[in-house]
Amino acid sequence: MLKIENLKKLQFLRSLKIRIFLIAFIIGILSCNMMRYAILQNYEQRAVSLRISDVQTQLNILANHLITNRYLQGTTSEAIEAELSLLSNLYDGRVLIINNNLKVVKDTYGISGGKTIISEEVIRCLKGENTSQYDPENNFIEMTVPIMETLEADEVDESGKPAGPQYVARGVMLISVSTDYIAVTMDILNRKALVMEAIVILAIFSASILASFVIVRPFEKITDALNQVKAGYSNEPISVPDCLETEHIGDAFNAVISRMKVLDDSRQEFVSNVSHELRTPITSIKVLADSLRMQDDVPVELYKEFMEDIANEIDREDKIINDLLALIKMDRTDSDLNISQVDINALVEVIMRRLRPIALKRDIELVYESVRPVAASVDEVKITLVITNLVENAIKYNKEHGWVKVTLDADHQFFSVVVADSGMGIPEDSIEHIYERFYRVDKSHSREIDGTGLGLAITRSAILKHRGSIKVVSEEGEGTTFIVKIPLTYIAVS
Ligand code: ADP
Repeated sequence: MLKIENLKKLQFLRSLKIRIFLIAFIIGILSCNMMRYAILQNYEQRAVSLRISDVQTQLNILANHLITNRYLQGTTSEAIEAELSLLSNLYDGRVLIINNNLKVVKDTYGISGGKTIISEEVIRCLKGENTSQYDPENNFIEMTVPIMETLEADEVDESGKPAGPQYVARGVMLISVSTDYIAVTMDILNRKALVMEAIVILAIFSASILASFVIVRPFEKITDALNQVKAGYSNEPISVPDCLETEHIGDAFNAVISRMKVLDDSRQEFVSNVSHELRTPITSIKVLADSLRMQDDVPVELYKEFMEDIANEIDREDKIINDLLALIKMDRTDSDLNISQVDINALVEVIMRRLRPIALKRDIELVYESVRPVAASVDEVKITLVITNLVENAIKYNKEHGWVKVTLDADHQFFSVVVADSGMGIPEDSIEHIYERFYRVDKSHSREIDGTGLGLAITRSAILKHRGSIKVVSEEGEGTTFIVKIPLTYIAVS
């Protein structure tokens, strides 16, 4: 419960405006802080290194004086003492002079005089090395500088050249220099930087709010435009060209709307076609029945003839309704195929046997050629419907004494059923329409032949559900060939 409440509290974070504002604001504050820190650090480093080099110069001068005045040998002078106390006052620190026996000869604080100091820095310094160490916690720098004496060499080295002057460390100066003024300056700088930072953060705060509003504004505009369309106030294509993203959303939405319009148009056309096709047989029945009703003493033969016509029209109505139901069932995207392993050779043979009597009535020869045995995983009912429709059409749209040839073949991926006939053929401009619902080639001889115009629509739909293909080649007056290819194994899309 507690967790859900917490999550609800965080819901505001889902707002793009809040996210943009937070990101811009946090980045702004972080960079401000980092800048302040970097500037202070830089100042501190520079100030410390300046102080070190300053003190070092002073100590080198003093070291020279100490040597010339033989200070380490015990000779002292007022000038040296004054110089030492000046140095100690100037740098607000303590100066120790240590001889090469590690004994403190002078301590400006007067505490450690005569004591022995053994420290790593002092020993390193006696070897001629300058050392310096900054302690930012306690605000001081500790430095050591060797007191070097130059010995004139009158000897020559192994190569025969004069060996040159030699430097010997006679002692060490150890000095602690206060860095209080650096800390004070840093404190002042820090305070000034904080004031600046507060001003900059205020500016960043305003800029972040502005940015979040400006960036989100086009999205709000597009939502408004979508709502207008949703509420039915507008049917115009929406356009928010403020930024590329909203332009893309607008384009995608317009594409969806125009697709929906196409679907709606085709649905309306389908409904009007259905009502027209369903009404035709009923109108005929009504005309036939009325004409019988209007006449008195109708001969029995005419009665029989009219009743036969009425029965035919009822059969036609029944066929249209059945075909419609088959098509609607096929078009439903959620209707699954009932896949099983089917012997296609046997299936085609059964269909041929069933249709042979119809072909015989018009003396049409039905030939079946099976190139190889074919077994495939298909929906048996739907594939039966496909082959039956094609062979039925080949018989229906044939001429007397013609032929229909069905060939079954397969490769490693597909099996193919080719239905060729010697019939009337399909005019070139009609070929692209034959799979449309209710489309029939508008020729008087086609109109005489019984049909609903739904057969090929159902056939194509069943083939596409199997991820197969259907092609047609036709020559008017010569004949038609339908080529169907179906995968041997059905692969469902997830
Ligand atoms: P129908 O119920 O009219 O046969 P179909 O959808 O099966 O409907 O066929 C659509 C139209 O295509 C038919 O009306 C016919 O004009 C044409 N057609 C189909 N098959 C053939 C064929 N084998 N030979 C000539 N025309 C054909």
